[in-house]
Amino acid sequence: MHAKAPSPIARTEQPASHLFYGSRQRRPLVERAEGIYVWTQDGRRFIDGSSGPMVANIGHGNRNVIAAMQRQMEKATFAYRLHFENEPAEELARLLSQKMPGDLDRVFFVSGGSEAVESAIKLARQWAVATGQPKRWKVICRMPSYHGGTMGALAVTGDLALTETFAPQTLAMPAIPAPTAYRDRDNLSMEQRGIRYADMLEEKILAEGPESVAAFIMEPIGGAATAALVPPDSYFARIREICDQYGILLIHDEVMSGAARTGKYLGGDHWACRPDIITMSKGIGSGYAPLGAMIASRRVVEPVLDMGGFQHGYTYAGNPLACAAGLAVLDEMELLGCEENAAAMGDLLIAELQGLTERFPFIAGVRGKGLLIGADMVADPQDFTPLPKDKHANQRLLDLAYERGLIVYSRRIRGDGLGLDNFILAPPLIITKEQVGEMVGVLGDSLEALAKELD
Ligand code: PLP
Repeated sequence: MHAKAPSPIARTEQPASHLFYGSRQRRPLVERAEGIYVWTQDGRRFIDGSSGPMVANIGHGNRNVIAAMQRQMEKATFAYRLHFENEPAEELARLLSQKMPGDLDRVFFVSGGSEAVESAIKLARQWAVATGQPKRWKVICRMPSYHGGTMGALAVTGDLALTETFAPQTLAMPAIPAPTAYRDRDNLSMEQRGIRYADMLEEKILAEGPESVAAFIMEPIGGAATAALVPPDSYFARIREICDQYGILLIHDEVMSGAARTGKYLGGDHWACRPDIITMSKGIGSGYAPLGAMIASRRVVEPVLDMGGFQHGYTYAGNPLACAAGLAVLDEMELLGCEENAAAMGDLLIAELQGLTERFPFIAGVRGKGLLIGADMVADPQDFTPLPKDKHANQRLLDLAYERGLIVYSRRIRGDGLGLDNFILAPPLIITKEQVGEMVGVLGDSLEALAKELD
């Protein structure tokens, strides 16, 4: 018997896969994951306080999903959509469309959030061409925002730190300010502020020329760029009204806010929103398979079909294994009561975070719905003065929490005119009351350490 040669890839100090990511520091190797916890090979345990990047909605290691995937693997792991239909994709499309508002019942599967957003941008454009409005090509977006890393999705992403380098190719789309009404210091009510932010869309449409605008894209509840930004209630109806008035499609990017994350199946469900196109990913596959979807209204899809079909598609679109995972995730979401638990645990977590603002005055603007909850880290909580950049508060919070076994999501955003550090807590939707307490305890210790560094 001879000894097995060590793998040259996994065991080198810097594996080849590592070279493309920002940090040069090597992360520990993951061993296994279950529920809200992840264990690494060096024997450490982490609380997944952000579900990865808000992905693991039903929690890690769900046996029913794994079994459903195994059953599908025995049948077919791949079937090309131009050659065959497949049952998991058909069934998942049927169930997803039942969860959508209005007549949004045309489902186009993809493998991730960026692909879903690319698909929405292309569908909006092809709809314009198909309906005899070829001058409409612009997609107005918000600043700051995040809609994905591919070139089209980057063009509607409002975060200069991510887009600037690629600007000539991404042909930056027009942007309006995200409705950060919670920070405004004026005499207006929240409702008036909501209308004021929405009216900025009308102003932008008029400035660009209504005949050139195909769509407006927004997250109903903000994610990566705005740390769980919740607009005032009045915002949504006014946005819809403006889109209707100028014949512009409304795209809701629910990649992060969808799939029960905010305590309802869609973020927009909190306001009975009726967008024309919805993009989803993350939670619908919950980390078990790369899965995303663009769901559009018949009104948008029919003219495109009349033109000969959507001129778009991906090799892995509607993959039977990914869709079987998606079906099982959807089942588990209902079985485990994810929407209800997200709503209840979210209320508890928001109260806990409010409590932390008293202990740590550099935390301000606690916000969110369900288990998508964020806050800013500031020098002055009254006027949201940013912390000095050289304190690297976002990176320090990430590191201090990581050292203590907690994963949080934290960024410093360029593009909102301020450059605020923020963080998000978004644990799996199956978290218990005791686990919320455990997570907040570790967060408190991490903030305590950060407070010393900020002094
Ligand atoms: N849209 C939103 C709202 C997101 O939060 C993200 C990812 O964070 C994306 C799109 C891109 O998704 P992916 O990273 O799966 O391509």
